[in-house]
Amino acid sequence: MQQLISLAKSLGCDVEENPVLAKYTTFHIGGQAPLLMDVPASAAPKLLKTIQEMGQSIFWMGKGSNLLISDKGISQIVLRLKQENPIRISEKSLTCDGAAPLIGVCKAARDAGLSGLEFAYGIPGSVGGGVFMNAGAYGGEIQDVFVAAKVLFPDGSVDTIFAEEMDFGYRHSALMEQGGVVLETTFLLTPKDKEEITKTMEDFLSRRKEKQPLEYASAGSFFRRPTGYYTGALIEQCGLKGFRVGDAAISEKHAGFLVNLGSATCQDVKAVANEVKRRVLEKTGVTMQPEVRLIGETWEE
Ligand SMILES: Cc1cc2nc3c(=O)[nH]c(=O)nc-3n(C[C@H](O)[C@H](O)[C@H](O)COP(=O)(O)OP(=O)(O)OC[C@H]3O[C@@H](n4cnc5c(N)ncnc54)[C@H](O)[C@@H]3O)c2cc1C
Repeated sequence: MQQLISLAKSLGCDVEENPVLAKYTTFHIGGQAPLLMDVPASAAPKLLKTIQEMGQSIFWMGKGSNLLISDKGISQIVLRLKQENPIRISEKSLTCDGAAPLIGVCKAARDAGLSGLEFAYGIPGSVGGGVFMNAGAYGGEIQDVFVAAKVLFPDGSVDTIFAEEMDFGYRHSALMEQGGVVLETTFLLTPKDKEEITKTMEDFLSRRKEKQPLEYASAGSFFRRPTGYYTGALIEQCGLKGFRVGDAAISEKHAGFLVNLGSATCQDVKAVANEVKRRVLEKTGVTMQPEVRLIGETWEE
């Protein structure tokens, strides 16, 4: 492991041994990993190869805003991309690193008078995480503006993948099956009056502040929206607003959010999620699936 750490440092990585991952997720939940490394995208292929040759596995983390990590921690080495390059804008296209924060990219598009990313203003993830998840809100999704991404695949190859190869769907991309980490992305945007873009972004942000329990740690909407239903309404209809196990609870403000009231554990969150699933199915016949990605264990354990 010390050899890997030395190599990583020589490649410009920041390294933390035995990090507590709770510090790096918006849920503030998660045990330790053996190693956390912040990696410049240019060094990622070499590091990936070295770690694989050691027989170790890797978990690529973005900004940790859609993750529920096991209290027992995980055995994988956690890698996060470092933002290396500035956002590049030319006429109607915007290209940025996978590590770039989505909110910063929305602001850069606005400042350049380019429309299309307004929906994402307020989503607290990275661009790479947004592409992987096909993040969306207020009628927009990443797939609407995505042109191509430079991806580092698990076999060590780096290739450009275009929209038609991404199999985008509701909170789905081909990367979920194929693996691969987004090093860089290009979006196609539309010129528009800056004032109008700003107005739309501010409107979306104020709707978030009004409706979402942003005062608590969470991973955003906990469950996927079942076709034909609103998750929050279904949960509320089953009398589960405020339902709580330990410090994990269904938000009183927005039943689609499962919040950490202070010191919730992964087990608490799973207990709430599994019970909500059970009761919603029993009362309404609708099966709910988490949108949040559980790392290091399974929902059934
Ligand atoms: C308050 C709040 C509000 C939210 N609102 C929304 C919303 O409106 N709409 C929405 O869709 N989501 C929302 N989310 C969820 C979350 O912000 C998004 O899913 C976001 O896209 C996750 O990005 P991330 O960088 O945090 O990824 P992480 O949570 O770190 O990782 C999520 C998945 O993406 C993968 N990943 C991360 N980076 C990369 C990369 N560079 N290349 C390939 N895969 C990668 C990880 O391996 C993991 O499987 C919200 C979350 C919070 C806390």
